[in-house]
Amino acid sequence: MVDTLLTRLEELFPEMVELRRLLHSEPELSFQEVKTPKLIADYLERLGVEVKRNIGGRGVVGYIKGSKPGKTVALRADFDALPIEEETGLPFASKNPGVMHACGHDGHTATLLVLAKVLMEYQDQLSGTVVLIHQFAEELAPGGAIEMIKDGCLDGVDTIYGTHLWSTMPLGSIGYCQGPIMAAADRFELVIYGRGGHGAIPHETVDSIAVASSVVTQLQQIVSRNINPLKSAVVSVGSFHAGGAFNVIADSAEIVGTVRTFDPVVQELIIQRIEQITKGICEAMGATYSFDYKKGYPAVVNDSFETDCFIKVAKSIQRDAFVHEMEPVMGGEDFAYYLQHVPGTFFFTGAGNQEEGIVYPHHHPKFDFDEKAMLIAAKCLGKAAIDFLERSEISKVEENEQSR
Ligand code: MN
Repeated sequence: MVDTLLTRLEELFPEMVELRRLLHSEPELSFQEVKTPKLIADYLERLGVEVKRNIGGRGVVGYIKGSKPGKTVALRADFDALPIEEETGLPFASKNPGVMHACGHDGHTATLLVLAKVLMEYQDQLSGTVVLIHQFAEELAPGGAIEMIKDGCLDGVDTIYGTHLWSTMPLGSIGYCQGPIMAAADRFELVIYGRGGHGAIPHETVDSIAVASSVVTQLQQIVSRNINPLKSAVVSVGSFHAGGAFNVIADSAEIVGTVRTFDPVVQELIIQRIEQITKGICEAMGATYSFDYKKGYPAVVNDSFETDCFIKVAKSIQRDAFVHEMEPVMGGEDFAYYLQHVPGTFFFTGAGNQEEGIVYPHHHPKFDFDEKAMLIAAKCLGKAAIDFLERSEISKVEENEQSR
């Protein structure tokens, strides 16, 4: 079945391109998607897929039930765009001013829709169910995944796979990662309150700039002195604002930064240390402070067994040399939430192409990806799903157990 399925995907590649270009020309911002989920749901219904609309708000979930009983595998594609003015000059560029598919989610959606079409042709040969999760609002925290999960999109699901088309990896390559593949991305804000006054009379003030400077310096020691060297973390201060005049001691100073981690224990330690350091320095220097910490998406943590299975699938589609273990990406992704509920794996599908000038990074006004990457992504997701259903067929599981 798998070989002919891959051939069918190749035959339907032009439709994937057509769908992607249609989606690309009509991008919608996170939490404002209307036309896109309708297009997805209508397309799936025309295929005969059982569809649930408005899952968790704007999500669409499709169910392809095989004729034989078995387990359930979910495939996820996100469909929101970004507040960016497109500068690609492509014939199918965005028709919505200030809004652009600059992260490839149009490609994710087209990939999964055409894969659904092909899977429907093989419905009578499937053992188990394929759940198609079309997710809204990936780009903007709190994201769409949490609400879709609350609304039942993972009910009965045994495993989940997802991919990101990646323009900074060459077309043909597939990147996988055991364990964490994307970071938890958080934001913190500290305001140091001193006591302002005349620049010439510092002894009657509490200089918020001097206090806040000490805080920033000490924050740099969290990663170097408190975190296990075998773990990784980032604490970066990206903004420092205080004062306005050369002869005035600033009353308050504001520090804003980001924390990136792969391990929740490390994350909690950093939150605790930021506050301890700030509190200690403020007490010592006669200042007070306020501390606000906002957690973004948690880390995307891949299941090691499912990743091993995926590596075999990927190597059967692309030559071994193209399938590589990649370094985790410090960006965030709300695919993380699915993996907190069910095991699975998230991988990167190379979509860059130097010769064709497809070199711009994600979220850039000139971002584009090589559309041939969608075919590779569809093959990987389709084969991984079938591989999962076949290896968990009840009869095969029993056979394996008997042969032990
Ligand atoms: Mn993205």
